[in-house]
Amino acid sequence: MTPCSVVISQRGVDRILAGHPWIYRADIEDASGVEPGAVVRVVDHRKGFWGQAFYSSQSQIALRLLTREKRPFDRDFLAERIAAAAVFRQQVVEGAQAYRLVSSEGDLLPSLVIDRYADCFALQTLSQGADRLKPMVVEILQQQFAPRAILERNDVAIRCLEGLPEQKGVVAGENVSEVVVEENGVKVVFDLLAGQKTGGFLDQRENRAAAQRYARGRAFDGFCYTGGFALAMAGKCDAVVGVDSSPEALQAAARNQQLNGNPNIEWTEANCFDFLKAADQRGERFDTMVLDPPAFARQKSHRESALRGYKELNLRALKMLNPGGFLITCSCSYHVSESDLLEVVASAALDAHRTVSVVERRTQSRDHPILLTVPETHYLKCLILRAL
Ligand code: SAH
Repeated sequence: MTPCSVVISQRGVDRILAGHPWIYRADIEDASGVEPGAVVRVVDHRKGFWGQAFYSSQSQIALRLLTREKRPFDRDFLAERIAAAAVFRQQVVEGAQAYRLVSSEGDLLPSLVIDRYADCFALQTLSQGADRLKPMVVEILQQQFAPRAILERNDVAIRCLEGLPEQKGVVAGENVSEVVVEENGVKVVFDLLAGQKTGGFLDQRENRAAAQRYARGRAFDGFCYTGGFALAMAGKCDAVVGVDSSPEALQAAARNQQLNGNPNIEWTEANCFDFLKAADQRGERFDTMVLDPPAFARQKSHRESALRGYKELNLRALKMLNPGGFLITCSCSYHVSESDLLEVVASAALDAHRTVSVVERRTQSRDHPILLTVPETHYLKCLILRAL
């Protein structure tokens, strides 16, 4: 079947020429007769061919470019893209058992996320186009990896923008929810049905390994979730304090601790801002501190208040850091850039009367590729700082 065509404006063409895969609804000139989620030919008003894309009938992102080629976007094409993503992972995941196998635009498969947790796979289909291909994706994963289970974690609000329902559950294989995976020498339980994202924060794996390299003395893991950074650091430290506001997350953290037999971690349920303030007043000090808060700026309009939040957190942490100590500070807000974060931390250091050096400027793990011409693919910032 020949795919339908969607006609785009010159501004839409310019987006493609600038290397961006999204074309907004305002740049669609004609999409008559196109089914929601269809793979379409993208053409200009002179019928010039620009590529093939997922079409969405509801989202403001009307087209997501899949390829500039004319070759049909069929099962073989999709299978090749997934296989190519898997080859790259073999080059970068360094034996990790849990990693992002397919990272949406970063693997030229917009709005498709596939996370691998050992022999179980969790997927998200976040646009009408990706959702339509779900049965094919499941079949390809079965053929390429013979997994024990494939789950979907489509319980995410952005699916509403596509007119898709929120849903989660096992779509193939065994009825699995929890998977135990080894990461940076630590055993971690991921709950693929109840955990955040598709089970956990795989994008921080390399930063947890980096934290492990610098960790020493008395350590703090702020916004610890199920204890990822704390567990990674515990073997190098005398004592670790993990703080999170979610009791469920801390229960999972305690289970992870038990699994690894680390006696030196203490979990505290608290708001990190309050905890740091009170701990400072008690005169507590740390040698290694991690701050990994949730995205404070989910929208551009939240940027200013987010910057104030980052400033306060980093100021409180820097005040409590012993000389020679390390602060590993993260932001996963796309709307806060790395230079914003550097500026905020510099201003916090001045207020705390500390001289601070930048030891490493890091980002999301390499299994979450950053496309040069797609700024949205770069969202996680992680600075490793040393207080002199
Ligand atoms: N560092 C973790 C991921 C952190 S996710 C890892 O490597 O896996 C962010 C966490 O912040 C969530 O667990 C959430 O419960 C927690 N959180 C959000 N607001 C908080 C607050 N004000 N104080 C403490 N924890 C908070």
